[in-house]
Amino acid sequence: MPFQIYETESRSILSATSGFIAQAGFSHSLTPARNCTFGCSYCYVPTLGIYGGLKPDDWLHWGQFTTFKSNAATLLRGALRPDQVIYCSPLVDPYQPAEADAQLMPAILDTLLERPPRVFVIQTRGPLIVRDLARLRDFSKRTQLRVSFSLTTNREDVRRMYEPHCAPLADRLAAIQALREAGIATFATLAPILPCDPEELAAIALQATDKDIIADPLHVRAVKKHGATTRDAAVKISVKHDFSEWLDPTFQAHVLARMAAFVNRAGRQFAAGTEGFGWLAK
Ligand code: SF4
Repeated sequence: MPFQIYETESRSILSATSGFIAQAGFSHSLTPARNCTFGCSYCYVPTLGIYGGLKPDDWLHWGQFTTFKSNAATLLRGALRPDQVIYCSPLVDPYQPAEADAQLMPAILDTLLERPPRVFVIQTRGPLIVRDLARLRDFSKRTQLRVSFSLTTNREDVRRMYEPHCAPLADRLAAIQALREAGIATFATLAPILPCDPEELAAIALQATDKDIIADPLHVRAVKKHGATTRDAAVKISVKHDFSEWLDPTFQAHVLARMAAFVNRAGRQFAAGTEGFGWLAK
């Protein structure tokens, strides 16, 4: 996908959390760029508009460009404290495709290594993360580093419909394996749950990691009255391909129950929403 990369000097790099991430136990979020070149059809971020720190061009042309905070590492040096519990990021994937050229994360990780916070969580679906494996390995020896790697469906046809610019499942599993072999605590996070075989996706997650399993269905207004929600592009795809039930809260609860039963039978815990994401913050 052609996309534009822009840079800007930001005024701050760490934000005090609110909402979902705060309820999960994170004190701060770190967002290295505005707009995400993965451009997932379901992405909640553009629905936040100005409340997510976005400009109109961001939510009108989600995924078509990104604006990196070129001074992120410098700002971070003055903002880090040892008691912080940081989530990176609720607003962009730090290993989005444009990061391959921008290479902001190595400098950010170098700064984190100098002044490690108490907990640092990287939320990603980008196998590009393995580029920074050596730094991540060093960092994991200095603090509680956790990688939460998103797995969304066991079906490649579904992946191509909803998140065509994201890596196929096999590439994500290879990245998880590389992270684990480097000794980095890595979770397989089923979020958002796209149309799938629930037990098969849960089995893949169980096999990929030794952690409990975190999940989150597609957010819908019927349940989540305020804040970020699934953007229209994914709703249209769901209707077109007869997957609308995956946006139905009753159906979603049934899928979660099936996954929970499967994971529990394997002797591990399963939790959705802030309870699950809270495991990352401990
Ligand atoms: S990777 Fe995350 S932030 Fe980026 S478009 Fe997809 S859901 Fe949004």
